[in-house]
Amino acid sequence: MRDFKCPHCGQLSAFELSKCNGCMQPLIFDPENMAMIGAESALECVNRNIIGCNWCAVSTTSYCMSCSLTHVIPATQNPRNVALWKRVEEAKRRLIYDLRRLRVPIAFAGGFRLAFEILSDEHGPVLTGHESGLITLNLAEADDVQREIRRVSFREPYRTLLGHFRHEIGHFYWNALIHEAGFRAPFRLVFGDETENYQAALAYYYARQDWSCDPASHISMYATSHPWEDWAETFAHFLHIVSTLDSLAGLPLSLDARGTHTLNDPYLESDFGALLELWTPLALTINRLNRSLGLADAYPFDISPAVEGKLHLVHMAITAFRNRQGNAHTTPMMC
Ligand SMILES: [Zn+2]
Ligand SMILES: [Zn+2]
Ligand SMILES: [Zn+2]
Repeated sequence: MRDFKCPHCGQLSAFELSKCNGCMQPLIFDPENMAMIGAESALECVNRNIIGCNWCAVSTTSYCMSCSLTHVIPATQNPRNVALWKRVEEAKRRLIYDLRRLRVPIAFAGGFRLAFEILSDEHGPVLTGHESGLITLNLAEADDVQREIRRVSFREPYRTLLGHFRHEIGHFYWNALIHEAGFRAPFRLVFGDETENYQAALAYYYARQDWSCDPASHISMYATSHPWEDWAETFAHFLHIVSTLDSLAGLPLSLDARGTHTLNDPYLESDFGALLELWTPLALTINRLNRSLGLADAYPFDISPAVEGKLHLVHMAITAFRNRQGNAHTTPMMC
């Protein structure tokens, strides 16, 4: 994601900022026009004063496009819940931004639409997951200590709020991009047979004793549990890649003409090979930079030829879907 111009002084501001660091004027993000606007141009989301949401309210409600998708929030009498919910919504706004850039809808004919519930596990276990358009997130995932405990106990190299959202949204789009789009045969060829009993596969995965995973065939260990989880994991990685390349586009780097063209809009790049050609050295670079700072790798994954094939199918399915929808709905580029 690139920075956005302050409408008052022109200084570049990060996506999350509610106030310009240059002129100190309030900033509101308008997801319809993908731009920062001034407080005089729009109403603020009602959650701005509660959790620092910096998006504008949509005309039909006092909530913004992102907050209005959250149907259940944790109990706000508990200040810790509010602090964690703030982090959740911040990650979720990045996800909604990704979807706007990909030009994929959040609601489909027939009533299938995206919604979220953010639940605290104070009163019982909460499973993060997706069911018929509803994404449930355990609030504890916003607690750094709790999330790190889970990450280590599940032996995962990477666990973030944004990663959760980008995974669950992959489940949300499977139906439209694969099932209803005539992509089932290639899906099964690349990811395997999704009719395999899902609940049984997950139970088997969590009960397993053998924790080894062949990185040549799957992007993560969890991706081995079932073809649907493999798809969701791969979909998340596709979003990691295009979003990070988009951030790269705003940095002062010299690139050849093809690279410059790809970075013009990685979300809409039609050449999958060009995306990976830029991503591979970038992933290596950010990992090496992190190591120099004493940090763990930012992208602790290998993209094997098999995983590359899966990512390519995600790219094809999104592109084909967008082409079917036509280009009538266009999203303006940001500055
Ligand atoms: Zn400013
Ligand atoms: Zn909001
Ligand atoms: Zn999943």
